[in-house]
Amino acid sequence: MSWFRNHYVCVACEGHWLAESAEVQDADCPHCRAYDVVPYRSDDLTRVVVRAPAAKVRVKVKAA
Ligand SMILES: [Zn+2]
Repeated sequence: MSWFRNHYVCVACEGHWLAESAEVQDADCPHCRAYDVVPYRSDDLTRVVVRAPAAKVRVKVKAA
């Protein structure tokens, strides 16, 4: 599963905000309610969020 931190700047009120979601998507401005604001930048957090806990688990394999 992907995970992104989207950075938005509203052209109507010049407000900016961040929102994290599973995809790069348009959002409504929380300041002036302008809609379909396109993120000017999206950080791909997939590698950060999706850690591999199994990597810490050592599996012992007994030799038969
Ligand atoms: Zn706005």
